[in-house]
Amino acid sequence: MTARIIDGTLLSKRLRSDKVAQRAAALTERGYPPRLAVILVGNNAASQIYVRNKIKACEANGLHAVCDYYPAELIEANLLVRIDQLNRDPRIHGILVQLPLPPHIDAYKVIAAIAPEKDVDGLHVVNMGALMAGKPLFRPCTPYGVMKIFELENIPLTGANAVVIGRSNIVGKPMAMLLVEAGATVTICSSKTRDLAVHTRSAEIVVAATGTWNLVTADMVKPGATVIDVGINRDDKGQLCGDVDFAGVHKVAGHITPVPGGVGPMTITMLLVNTIAAAEYAAG
Ligand code: NAD
Repeated sequence: MTARIIDGTLLSKRLRSDKVAQRAAALTERGYPPRLAVILVGNNAASQIYVRNKIKACEANGLHAVCDYYPAELIEANLLVRIDQLNRDPRIHGILVQLPLPPHIDAYKVIAAIAPEKDVDGLHVVNMGALMAGKPLFRPCTPYGVMKIFELENIPLTGANAVVIGRSNIVGKPMAMLLVEAGATVTICSSKTRDLAVHTRSAEIVVAATGTWNLVTADMVKPGATVIDVGINRDDKGQLCGDVDFAGVHKVAGHITPVPGGVGPMTITMLLVNTIAAAEYAAG
């Protein structure tokens, strides 16, 4: 068996024209041009690329993006002042603080300062709590993108055994919660898990979000399973790759996402979707 390769770029293109560009144009016509504020602190090379791609995606789909670039030495209190200004600015509908922040800045405190109705990354404790309660306002963009993949690829989740590898607040935990909401039986694994393969081998759905190159190999995957690779790593040749041994797992799985071109574009698309939703909410 060889897996069907899920083309996240193609799915994104469809979603952006159906669910983003048209709604952005309608909002603009009504006098509410959707606008995202992005804050980048420091000069982390990967973060700079992510921010550039997010801004480009906004501009290509009729959303406005403004970006504040701050040096790594930025004082936390000044960042909080800026977030307060953006919270009060009615022209801004979404606020995204690119993570990670430099170690002297408390990311939890910074995210908690964003008005929940502008927290389009879905990471504010209120939005996390709402997700837990089954009433999410904004779903965190990466797990939301993965759920869209399941929906658009008609991958059944009800009753499925799902393993999420990784337990971060950004990906692993909300991913697990969304799968639970969809009726899957979910196991969350982490670096502390004693025998990862025991769990993955009985799963119809595997979502890997660890940042560990070649963590998931073919012998760990149940034939026909759907394997979603969230990881973004560099291999020993410096090439972009995920957490999954794509060549090996492709021969066993039923569906697989590539890196690049899988979850990455879907994450950005869901950021656009959340920003449009925030703008529609603000516009009444
Ligand atoms: P993180 O470092 O916050 O969390 C990593 C998690 O993986 C931890 O819970 C850790 O316990 C677990 N882990 C690490 N090594 C493991 C191992 N050997 N076995 C089992 N579990 C292990 O990272 P994160 O922010 O959740 O991101 C994870 C990966 O996803 C990174 O590569 C990141 O770049 C990528 N990412 C991609 C997107 C995207 O849009 N494609 C978005 C966010 C993050």
